[in-house]
Amino acid sequence: MSILIEDLAHLETELTNFRHDLHMHPELGFKEKRTSFKIAEELKSSGIEVSTEVGKTGVVGVLKKGHGTKNIMLRADMDALPINEKSTHNYTSKNPGVMHACGHDGHTAMLLGAAKFLANNDCFSGTVYFVFQPNEEHGLGAKAMLEDGLLERFPAKEIYGIHNLPGAPLGEFSTRVGVICASETLFEITIEGRGGHSSMPHLGVDTILVGSELVTSIQTIVSRKLDPCSTVVVSVTEFISDGIRNVLPGKTVLKGDIRTHNSKDRSKVQKVLKQICNGVAKLHGVKIKISINNEFIETNNSRIPNENAIKAASGLGCKIISDSPPMSFSEDFAQFASKRPSCFLLMGNGLEGANSQPLHSSDYDFNDKALITGAGFWSRLVSNQLQS
Ligand SMILES: [Zn+2]
Ligand SMILES: [Zn+2]
Repeated sequence: MSILIEDLAHLETELTNFRHDLHMHPELGFKEKRTSFKIAEELKSSGIEVSTEVGKTGVVGVLKKGHGTKNIMLRADMDALPINEKSTHNYTSKNPGVMHACGHDGHTAMLLGAAKFLANNDCFSGTVYFVFQPNEEHGLGAKAMLEDGLLERFPAKEIYGIHNLPGAPLGEFSTRVGVICASETLFEITIEGRGGHSSMPHLGVDTILVGSELVTSIQTIVSRKLDPCSTVVVSVTEFISDGIRNVLPGKTVLKGDIRTHNSKDRSKVQKVLKQICNGVAKLHGVKIKISINNEFIETNNSRIPNENAIKAASGLGCKIISDSPPMSFSEDFAQFASKRPSCFLLMGNGLEGANSQPLHSSDYDFNDKALITGAGFWSRLVSNQLQS
């Protein structure tokens, strides 16, 4: 059976309503109780075996058909963000300060659509694992599911994930072999000098001046310490001191964020950052402490799953860009991709209005027209891959 988007047209209203319901009831990472309950109910109503509380609030559905021994794992994320929604449509968030501003409501509805379609159509032979992961935004949900034995309990051979891409045409997929999303590493630097009277700076050690020197030196990491072809971003995002009007600060904290596309650059940035802190500390006679926390690793696509995804998207009649440049944002799917051959794709969310606003903005919205495209892609991929 060669699945086309039209074959899923009958699901469009149901998936749109489901997505709007999730949008009205957004939940933050590891608090997706209502969301996971709704997903589990929908899967069960299609006769799909369900496991809940996999990695705290995660849900896994298992659908077996025929005698095929192959399997595939499809993953959606389901958490929302701590953002006050500014949209004006009739399904805005009823949970003040929380919003589906990354389209995870849409990702969940798409995967549920595929589960419903595949449960009702004999188009494959084998096992499909539908994974609904919690807490993608903080990079904690995938790890929680893996630590809860996800791949031992559901022994997937290949894993696939999709994220919507605002500003790209509806129905256009893009992907690449190798790194597709960046790592994210957070750092926090604490400078301890000696506060004092602003009229007598020579009696203290002004940590604002030391902090300013650090900010400037940190900018030399990308410009002078890394290969010019590296795509690395190092940003100082917070500068906090305890100084007041006429008091020089004795303590300053700098916080920041590092994005890299490979582990070699990730290690190098951290090494140079520590060297800079040590050097500046000696120069000014202050104590500088640094803590570095890797929140997301790079997402790497494997060749064969990538070819399979390209085949499914083009078979569906969608445009697919197979050599997309890597993205500067990070994705928790990276954890799955580090364990099994995987492919992560981006799917156009449209060029206009709320569908084209950047992810995480308070007036962004997932495009309902993409729901059956996404569900169709998942279904076609399963049907292609699980033939006995
Ligand atoms: Zn996000
Ligand atoms: Zn997201």
